[in-house]
Amino acid sequence: MDHSGQPVSPLEQALHAARALVLADLIAGEVAEADVVSLIEDAVVERRWWVEQWPEGAGYVVGLVAQDVQDALLERYGRWPLCPVCGQGDPHALDVEPELGPDPHWVCHKAGVRVASVGSLGTAMGGPST
Ligand SMILES: [Zn+2]
Repeated sequence: MDHSGQPVSPLEQALHAARALVLADLIAGEVAEADVVSLIEDAVVERRWWVEQWPEGAGYVVGLVAQDVQDALLERYGRWPLCPVCGQGDPHALDVEPELGPDPHWVCHKAGVRVASVGSLGTAMGGPST
């Protein structure tokens, strides 16, 4: 238990942020069921190991966890998150850009647009439509 008032390490902050942001996007896509949430936990555990080996990568954890969860969902549930921008044609998933970098965004390569920051998909999915 850590009630001693010690500051949370940047590594833990990054992992907490990644978990919260990706969960927010799952909720926005209405796929935040219990077993889906466990996919995030698995991704965070793996990335905790990864970022312990490479602390400079802490800023990239959000985008990486998003991609890990996306990959895990593809195997078990199908494409996520579906593009909310393109109204026509085949449903397709958004991609995370940059794949390895800070400030990750969901982008649609078909339309060539940034849809939302990771963690802000709800505004793109549920925002007022014209
Ligand atoms: Zn699209």
